[in-house]
Amino acid sequence: MSTRIALVTGGIGGIGTAVCRELADRDCTVIACYYPLDEDGAEAWQQRHRAEGYDFAILPVDVTDYRSARVMAETVEQLYGSIDILVNAAGITRDRTLRNMTEEQWGAVIDTNLSSAFNITQPVVRGMIERGFGRIINIASVNGQKGQFGQANYSAAKAGLHGFTMAVAQETAARGVTVNTISPGYVQTAMTMSMPAEIRDRIVQQVPVGRMGTPEEIAFTVSWLADERNGYTTGANIPVNGGMFMSA
Ligand code: NDP
Repeated sequence: MSTRIALVTGGIGGIGTAVCRELADRDCTVIACYYPLDEDGAEAWQQRHRAEGYDFAILPVDVTDYRSARVMAETVEQLYGSIDILVNAAGITRDRTLRNMTEEQWGAVIDTNLSSAFNITQPVVRGMIERGFGRIINIASVNGQKGQFGQANYSAAKAGLHGFTMAVAQETAARGVTVNTISPGYVQTAMTMSMPAEIRDRIVQQVPVGRMGTPEEIAFTVSWLADERNGYTTGANIPVNGGMFMSA
């Protein structure tokens, strides 16, 4: 992979961090986006990585805010140049059974996991089409493929995200831009480590590989999809779930 500019939303999160490191190891210039209220955390994250030899740029964006996304995309264009690789990894959960779910819990999850893809991708994809190269990778979830008790909001958002992937993939296929989804199973990050240990144990029992995934395993799949040599995989939903959900 030659020097490309990669933008990762949720870039300082568990999976996002592994993606940033993997793409930097592949000689990309990496810009990690963080939630605007987390500036101190983002700077600390940047310093920690600098000490390890990673020179990541950081930029604030609220992925739920269309205008914030536009400003971020314009800033990247001015400071670093055109974005070649976009990884939409920002996401949240607000689990509740449908009967008890509030409108706020529904809306927050749809806005952060689904509308975010529209907000961030639209200002970026135009440049990719003009230049005839782009890689867009949307991080969904196994629970968007099979549904999950207590996650009507999250399952709907992640299933919708792959619908977005397939539609945009068709609009950009002839222009050198691929668009794909990765659907991870359960991965060891803050998102899953906040679950009670007995629930995590029960989940692992359902995983044929017998353990949770690592952020690095998701990042490796991102770098495979992002590679210049991979121009023929588009509109796909790549499962990285330890065999937890298999489909034909
Ligand atoms: P993390 O919580 O570690 O990372 C998510 C990141 O998204 C955080 O840095 C968070 O910032 C950021 N974020 C949340 N809301 C916004 C917003 N409005 N604007 C900008 N950034 C925001 O989770 P993971 O790394 O585990 O998850 C990454 C992606 O992978 C998510 O889309 C998730 O749904 C998906 N996924 C995760 C799985 C897992 O088992 N961990 C399994 C399947 C899918 P902040 O912390 O400041 O809020």
